[in-house]
Amino acid sequence: MLDLNLAELQQHPTPFYAYDLNLLRQTLQAAKHEAAKYDYHVHYALKANSNAPLLDQMREHGFGADCVSGNEVKAAIANGFAPEEIVFAGVGKSDEEINYALDQGIFCFNCESSHELEVLNDLAEQKGQVARIALRINPNVNANTHKYITTGLEENKFGINAWELERVLAQLQTLRHIELIGIHFHIGSQITDLTVFRNLCTRVNEFQEWFLAHNIQLQHINVGGGLGVDYYHPEQQPVPDFESYFALFHKFLELRPGQEVHFELGRALVAQCGTLISKVLYIKNGQNTNFAILDAGMTELIRPALYQSYHKIENLSSAKAEVRYDVVGPICESSDCFGKAVLLPETNRGDLIAIRTAGAYGEVMSSAYNLRDKAKAVYFQ
Ligand SMILES: *Cc1c(COP(=O)(O)O)cnc(C)c1O
Repeated sequence: MLDLNLAELQQHPTPFYAYDLNLLRQTLQAAKHEAAKYDYHVHYALKANSNAPLLDQMREHGFGADCVSGNEVKAAIANGFAPEEIVFAGVGKSDEEINYALDQGIFCFNCESSHELEVLNDLAEQKGQVARIALRINPNVNANTHKYITTGLEENKFGINAWELERVLAQLQTLRHIELIGIHFHIGSQITDLTVFRNLCTRVNEFQEWFLAHNIQLQHINVGGGLGVDYYHPEQQPVPDFESYFALFHKFLELRPGQEVHFELGRALVAQCGTLISKVLYIKNGQNTNFAILDAGMTELIRPALYQSYHKIENLSSAKAEVRYDVVGPICESSDCFGKAVLLPETNRGDLIAIRTAGAYGEVMSSAYNLRDKAKAVYFQ
């Protein structure tokens, strides 16, 4: 484990999420330092984890907020983010959510369809306001990641397609309560191959040319998030390589004078600082498969069931010879499995199990299915 020790962990009822705030600070410091080299603005994507102690750290490190629901905008404001640092994306913003964000005077709506522009214009008009927007463009770039976390292909529901832009520009001329201030992209998540971001830069440059050819100077370029983390080696790479990531955009993005670049990082900032701690309830030995049955399941961490994602699993209590186990939860679903044929030291009832790299899209996706209690969060300094 990072900085957590067994005796401390044993004091808490399982299952629970353990957050290493020390590692979080190191991560945010690194991201801040690298982004500052180029004057880049980083917004934290609240949907990865919206726990208040984590949000406090984001704010203290000077990050803005990237929200995808009205309640996320509320959470950002309740946790002290300034409205002028909040961006709001999402394909299905309700009238209520839009009205709330207008009332707060957020920095920018990232708009995902021509129909949404029309509704936003009407709602802003009713308030006598002009809403600042960025067009979320679907750049048709393949993120080479799991299909459920790919968002920048034409077949995905997100953003406005290139072939629609001409029409959308014409529409914008007629919408008096909307001000176009930028363009926005977000092509997917858990992207570990940086050439994907290079391809994104190429597409952004092409879109910039297109807008200039239409006499539109955009002040803000928002390239979204998506930087991946190392789920296989959380110890060797606890802090993502922000240096290469931001340097790549600096190298390949062609900017015009005065333009500001925005990023929306979620996973890369919080994944490694969170660990799901669980206890072994039962061992079930089969002819071909041994099962280690935990007291945590897909209700606490759904990523393996939802995206077949890998999380490193460790037995913190045993140092015996290794045996293979299917590590499963107690939920009545066959997909409630954290890993198949996982090599673990011989495991017994009561052993503490750590499921690593669970700080992003873990606790936020927990559910009450099977009427399960919500796992607590415990913070370690
Ligand atoms: C989810 C999301 C992000 C953050 O993605 P990560 O892969 O966690 O960095 C950024 N922007 C938008 C619009 C999103 O939906």
